[in-house]
Amino acid sequence: MLESLKKKVFEANILLPKYGLVTFTWGNVSEYDPETKLFVIKPSGVSYETMKPEDMVVMDLEGNRVEGELNPSSDTPTHLEIYKAWGDKVKGVVHTHSSYATSFAQAGRGIPCYGTTHADYFYGEIPCVRCLTKDEIEDAYEENTGHLIVNEFAAMSKDPVAVPAVLCKNHGVFAWGKDSMDAVHNSVVTEEVAKMALRCELINPDVKPAPQELQDKHYYRKHGANAYYGQKGSN
Ligand SMILES: [Zn+2]
Repeated sequence: MLESLKKKVFEANILLPKYGLVTFTWGNVSEYDPETKLFVIKPSGVSYETMKPEDMVVMDLEGNRVEGELNPSSDTPTHLEIYKAWGDKVKGVVHTHSSYATSFAQAGRGIPCYGTTHADYFYGEIPCVRCLTKDEIEDAYEENTGHLIVNEFAAMSKDPVAVPAVLCKNHGVFAWGKDSMDAVHNSVVTEEVAKMALRCELINPDVKPAPQELQDKHYYRKHGANAYYGQKGSN
């Protein structure tokens, strides 16, 4: 069942160490299939060197393991809540503790949009959501992380398509996209813009976000009805 999706999710997971986003077994990628309402996710604690496509775990949106011998990633309930809320537009989710972005998360700060690399992918700041409360941590921690992300985006009126990543305070990064590969792409960009933002603040501690009109120009030439970046029919 979902054999080609398992292979794709496996390949997306393998990209995390390739791009230097994860150490040891940290990090996980999943993809949601709207037709079957199932998603495929990395197994928990399996090393990237020995992991195989058939190790991927198939889950339903009630949190039941539908297929697979191994336990799913411990972050599965977070992925699940994101698909439950945004499954009509988000079909791939990535979680990493990539170093620069996680440094912003640990400091409790979003990543400001200082330039066009950021604006090409994210409309405005990549937000940092609060740390969970003691109760939220002690009971259903991973599920509550998902609720928090979804609720905070609603409270900030942020569209998850326009801002395809979030920092979780004292924790790490969740990024998403139209499939698992797109989500990995966005997690690589998140790490890169975090690295540039940190250096930018070191070089000039008074740096301000890029002018709004420049952010608008770069975001909207790649996204939305009037996009003109790239070749017709591609993205
Ligand atoms: Zn984590």
